[in-house]
Amino acid sequence: MVERLNKCPLCKSGLFLNKQEIKDHAVSKENFILCKCSNCSLLFTNPRPDEQSVAPYYDFPEYFSHEDRAKNLTQFIYQKVRNYSVRKKVKLFSGLHQKGRILDYGCGTGALLAEAKHQGWKVSGIEPNSKARTQANLKLKGRVKETIDDLPKEKKFDIITLFHVLEHIHDMKKTVKSLIKALNSDGYLLIAIPNPESWDAHKYGSFWAGWDVPRHLYHFDIIAMEYCAETFDLTLVEIKPMKFDSYYVSLLSEGYLNPNQNLISRYFNAFFSGRKSNQEAKNQPGNHSSNLFIFKKK
Ligand SMILES: [Zn+2]
Repeated sequence: MVERLNKCPLCKSGLFLNKQEIKDHAVSKENFILCKCSNCSLLFTNPRPDEQSVAPYYDFPEYFSHEDRAKNLTQFIYQKVRNYSVRKKVKLFSGLHQKGRILDYGCGTGALLAEAKHQGWKVSGIEPNSKARTQANLKLKGRVKETIDDLPKEKKFDIITLFHVLEHIHDMKKTVKSLIKALNSDGYLLIAIPNPESWDAHKYGSFWAGWDVPRHLYHFDIIAMEYCAETFDLTLVEIKPMKFDSYYVSLLSEGYLNPNQNLISRYFNAFFSGRKSNQEAKNQPGNHSSNLFIFKKK
C-alpha cells in the first residue's frame, strides 16, 4: 500500500512543500515526489510505499550491500573498497571508545561486524533482510537479529552504528529512540547518510543516485541533522567525510544520466566527479557526498 504523510516524519510539522519529482532509476522506473519540510528542512519521499509493500523495490540483483559475491567489475571494486573501509571504521571506533560492545543496525552481510569482532569488540547486528541476515550469521554465529526487539532489553552498547541505514527506516523516530535507549551513558551513535546538498547531488540533479527513491525515505541536510541532535537529546561531536561515496554515487549517477555511455567513459567521468566533489567539500565538515555524524548521548 501507498502511504501519504500529512506531517513531517521528523518534526511533525504540517508545513511542507513538494520539492522535486525523482525517478526510481534502479528498480521500478516509477516517479516519486520529494517533499521539503519548512520547519526542520528534512526532505522526505511522499507518498511512499508502506513498510509492508516496500520489499519489491529492494529486489534487484545489484543491491550490493546484501551480496558477498562480486558478479561484475563495479561490484568487485565496491567490495574491495568495502573491505578497506571496514578496517578504517573499526579503527575509528577504537579511537572513540575502549573495546566494548557494538551494535550495527542494518548490518547487511556483516562485514563490518566481522572485522570489529576480529579486532576484539563484542558484536551484535540487526538486519531485516533475511538473505543478508543468513549470510551475516554464517560469519557471526547467530549474533545478527531481525529487529531490535530480538535483543535482550538489558543489553547496552558502547557504540551503535547506522551506515546508510537511517534513510531507509519507516519508523525512524521510534527506532532512533530505542537505539539511544540501548546506548550506554558514555556511548556513541554513528550515523552515515548521503548529503542532498553535496556538489555531486547538485551536479547530477534528478539523476543523482543518492536520491534512491523510494528506498531512501529521507534526506538530511545539516539543518535537519542539527534538528535530529536536539530532538533526540544528542551532542554532535564530529562530522567525518566518507570520501569513497562520492566516486560510487557518481558512477551510479553517470549510469542513470547517460545509460548508453561506454564503460570507460562512465568510469572516467565518475572518477572526475567524485574527485571534484571531495575537493569542493574539503575542509568543510558536512559538505561531502556522504558524511558520518558522530553523536554522543547527553
Ligand atoms: Zn520537519
